[in-house]
Amino acid sequence: MSAQPPSPASEPENRPPLVVVREMKKYFPVTEGLIFERQIGSVRAVDGISFEIYPGETLGMVGESGCGKTTAGRTILGLYPITSGEVSISEIEVHKMNRPQALSLRRKAQMIFQDPYASLNPRWTVSAIIGEPIRIHRLAASEKERNERVHELMMLVGLSPRLINRFPHEFSGGQRQRIGVARALASNPEFIVCDEPISALDVSIQAQVVNLLEDLQEQFGLTYLFIAHDLSMVRHICNRVAVMYLGIIAELAGRDELYANPLHPYTQALLSAVPIPDPKKDRVRQRIILTGDVPSPLNPPSGCRFHPRCPIAQPQCAEKTPEWREVRPGHWVACHLV
Ligand code: SF4
Repeated sequence: MSAQPPSPASEPENRPPLVVVREMKKYFPVTEGLIFERQIGSVRAVDGISFEIYPGETLGMVGESGCGKTTAGRTILGLYPITSGEVSISEIEVHKMNRPQALSLRRKAQMIFQDPYASLNPRWTVSAIIGEPIRIHRLAASEKERNERVHELMMLVGLSPRLINRFPHEFSGGQRQRIGVARALASNPEFIVCDEPISALDVSIQAQVVNLLEDLQEQFGLTYLFIAHDLSMVRHICNRVAVMYLGIIAELAGRDELYANPLHPYTQALLSAVPIPDPKKDRVRQRIILTGDVPSPLNPPSGCRFHPRCPIAQPQCAEKTPEWREVRPGHWVACHLV
């Protein structure tokens, strides 16, 4: 797929973007040999993606498992070194930051993880977990002040401060995710990557966590990259949505535009699987069933990466990489036939 230009600066408002990603690639080397290791290829987990995220907005990033969305989120935050391309967050150039800038970025940009249990140290109390970013970034003048701040954060995410000395295993899944949210908020960030924050939770709890994230966004003007594996999850929380497939972005548009008028065959297939609340409409609509698995990012297909699974693929699709084009204001897509 060709280089992806930025989405227009007018989307969704005229303020400069908080996060800018340009042609970002993240490859992982594949090696063989135990004693004399040699590289035999690369997993192209993220292969040249570009977009912006504006202050106060939520950009959804969706796609099947293995499409590179979690790697993209971690690379944007500098948790993985960037193979090539550029990323800036709040004017910190992540692709070439030094140690003081990395520390500053840790304060300004945080992550909420998919598995709240695995992401919390089981031997630490809630007080230590939420208090750690406050300690690292020296955001409290004394231990008393730090404890007060932990209390405040617990109340903010709907946890009773009476539980401050408990350990993660003493909480339910939803409560553990609230601890993760409080920890992410502790350093007063501007930007948070929410990496499938609700997919490990019971359906009954998912809406509560989404509502909490929305409330916090409103209260603190937070900016989110919200990663999810299906389009139904991001519908209510995102302003714009990027659909990822095998390391690239296939389509990017405003939420309403994308749901009303999906243009890429992959987006159309994903949307056709989203349940409709009206059973009559749900019965008659056509589902697009994709055949085959997502190909290996070690050796992605030529031309359009989606061509081996695309229901409307043409001979040219296997040969030529589709251009990334803005087909309507703010609606970008990479497909020869659109
Ligand atoms: Fe790709 Fe061709 Fe299908 Fe468009 S029609 S998504 S270019 S395979």
